[in-house]
Amino acid sequence: MKQILQDLSHAELSALVGEMGEKKFRAEQIYLGLMQGKRISELPIPAPMREKLLAVYEDEPVRIREVFRSPDGTEKYLFELADGNLIEGVRMHYQYGNTQCVSTQVGCRMGCKFCASTLGGRIRDLTAGEILSEVLAVNRAEGGTLKDRAVTNLVLMGSGEPFDNYENVVGFLRNVTAEGGIRISARNISLSTCGLVPEMRRFAEEGIPLNLTVSLHATTDEERRRTMPIAARYSIREILDACTLYFEKTGRRYLFEYSLIEDENADMGHAYALASLLKGRPCHVNLIRLNEVKERNLRGTSEETAQAFLKTLTDCGISATLRRSMGSDIGGACGQLRASYLSREE
Ligand code: SAH
Repeated sequence: MKQILQDLSHAELSALVGEMGEKKFRAEQIYLGLMQGKRISELPIPAPMREKLLAVYEDEPVRIREVFRSPDGTEKYLFELADGNLIEGVRMHYQYGNTQCVSTQVGCRMGCKFCASTLGGRIRDLTAGEILSEVLAVNRAEGGTLKDRAVTNLVLMGSGEPFDNYENVVGFLRNVTAEGGIRISARNISLSTCGLVPEMRRFAEEGIPLNLTVSLHATTDEERRRTMPIAARYSIREILDACTLYFEKTGRRYLFEYSLIEDENADMGHAYALASLLKGRPCHVNLIRLNEVKERNLRGTSEETAQAFLKTLTDCGISATLRRSMGSDIGGACGQLRASYLSREE
């Protein structure tokens, strides 16, 4: 595979254009064009310069292969990378803007028992520029510009574990928030991790004040190990300490994802246990009913159970919401679209 031009920051791109012996304003033209989601072959620069770039860099790192539109307005994208690998993304419409869910790896190696992304393991990491290109491609396809963006919020909750691809993800975050680019501010970005404690602690020092989200899904280490292999490595106590560090460094409250799984983590005893675990912490809990994945035998709860769980948490003084399950009719859960595609192709 060739290199990815969208990996470069504005400053790095300027340096590259200088090394090519080209005028400085070419760097501006290239940067602006890329941020508008253009391919290298579409950039408004002299043909010989385009050819030079195309010899080294991928013309279109992320191509939208298909779009599925759900009646609730959610769009699900199947992307193809330059090496033919497939990843997926979703765009959801909320009152406050449009949120895109991006993938950070092809597949995942964390092995969570309820998740489709991890079924075939991790194929490879995405580069910073490939992750950015997911956003740029969708913004362009949906008619967004740099002034009036079709994507205003991001969640790093597609395939992959962001902190298992730390350098690329941090590079992506710097470039996606940068002045002059698509400029999605850190406070409008949520990064979800299964709880890689050393990287969580390292990330606290990066000075990127986003919404740090941890996939908890259990109230004790023993229970967590049943569905999340990573729980054998890091304890809930260590995760909470890393969250506290993040709060101290950034002033941002943190969040927990808790997917409600029938007969596993969703009875009222669990609700009370979760409340006492998180009591007094500057955090928010996102509940979601498990999206059933056909390759997995875990079941989601009823709507009533989810509402009762939510009420118990809020009655105990915990800030919590039950997420609407959007786009489940179009394979909205992590990795489902790619998984169904791969099995069809086999
Ligand atoms: N690897 C990261 C981010 C990707 S998953 C992480 O683990 O946080 C985004 C969220 O969806 C995580 O909370 C994950 O546990 C959850 N998830 C995965 N599969 C799910 C399913 N089938 N139903 C509901 N939530 C699911």
